[in-house]
Amino acid sequence: SQTTDQLSTFLESGIYRFESSNSVFFIDPVRVLNRSYARFRVSPSAYYSRFFESNGARDEPAATSTSSRKRKRKQKEKRPHTLNEREQIADQRHQEARPLLLKAHKALLEATDLLAVIRNLRSERCSSEGCQDLFLPSVEQSFVELASVWQAPLYEITLSFPPYREPTEGGGSPVVHSSEQRLIPVFNNLVVNETNKDVESEFLNSRYIIPRKSSFYMLCLTRFLWFLGFISWKSDLGKIRDLIPAASDCGFNLILVDPPWENSSAHQKLKYPTLPNRYFLSLPIKKLTHTEGALLALWVTNREKLRGFVEKELFPSWGVKYMATLYWLKVKADCILTSDLDLFHHRPYECLLLGYSHGEARNSECLSRFKPIPDNQVFISIPGDYSRKPPIGELLLEYVPGSKPARCIELFAREMLGGWTSWGNEPLHFQESRYFSRT
Ligand code: SAM
Repeated sequence: SQTTDQLSTFLESGIYRFESSNSVFFIDPVRVLNRSYARFRVSPSAYYSRFFESNGARDEPAATSTSSRKRKRKQKEKRPHTLNEREQIADQRHQEARPLLLKAHKALLEATDLLAVIRNLRSERCSSEGCQDLFLPSVEQSFVELASVWQAPLYEITLSFPPYREPTEGGGSPVVHSSEQRLIPVFNNLVVNETNKDVESEFLNSRYIIPRKSSFYMLCLTRFLWFLGFISWKSDLGKIRDLIPAASDCGFNLILVDPPWENSSAHQKLKYPTLPNRYFLSLPIKKLTHTEGALLALWVTNREKLRGFVEKELFPSWGVKYMATLYWLKVKADCILTSDLDLFHHRPYECLLLGYSHGEARNSECLSRFKPIPDNQVFISIPGDYSRKPPIGELLLEYVPGSKPARCIELFAREMLGGWTSWGNEPLHFQESRYFSRT
């Protein structure tokens, strides 16, 4: 039957498309990410460190969501006394999104076969025998701190390539490469795994798993110079220019951006440094765009001031034409929303704005030839660690202009994916061996 097909497709791909609504999806990030690996698996228990009941103190079981602390917060936040002009616009946006989010959630709650799988996502074991979690280092590396010491430009990462058979075009006998170790500068340098195999790497006594056909560029922020006023954040963002392709026919067809927007919750928890909005204007999106154009996907918070900035200033300065909004709806393992849908400052959803970029080679006229993107699609998932976004690249591929395979880049990335370039000050963060098991 169709539902069995949907479920088996989900078990393989990690993406469930609801029969009742074509524009609603459920995503299991662990399955999606695992398609980038052969020798390693992303460990579900490490990914789903929140929102599952078996997880002690950090867990948020449904029963405690009505605790008095939360109830007070709800009462306080649900109806801010009088809405100012900006809050009214935000509320209007929310009222427009509300029915489609409720409809998406209803579709999820009705998919009983899927619900049974979701409940157990965290405890799923790797199917192959001898699958074991990798060594857990006692301290998590902070790349932002590491990058600020004076020796940072000298640090190197060791990539250990297994023996590798490279298929030749036209079906001739494959080229055989023996195993090899490469020592490569880790900061301000494009580190590439061009092979079809995931490789293990080592940096300062920690191990990182690098997916097949991927690369990363990790910024060294040289903050002590910044404090002294010798360099600015702007020149730091300027480092992205190293990624601008030399030949005009390359560049990227899919550009995913999750900026460190200033936001009270990021500040409070001090998980990563943030930047004022104006700095994002200097990101060279036009230059990164492929001559055949690019789909640009930008994560935004629900702050109305930010939405206004993106629509009126950021997209126009990047040469991006807004096309559609996608909603990421967050649920717990029991498929209840992570917070009340109407909480004013803690919405259980985030938005991904999609637009087409024509780049420097063409002008905006070419944009009308790109595929229309349906507005208001909803994808649902159980969030991973704090502010980690689900890997939605694959859902976007059908709208990506240009020839295949698409060239994809994520800016401000904290993880890597097969076929992608990851740029940021901590693209290795979720590649650490604690997040993986060996097959
Ligand atoms: N998409 C990521 C995920 O799902 O895990 C989260 C990205 S987070 C919103 C923003 C990232 O930008 C953080 O990793 C932060 O450290 C990084 N960042 C902050 N300032 C930066 C800068 N000046 N240059 C590059 N990256 C920066």
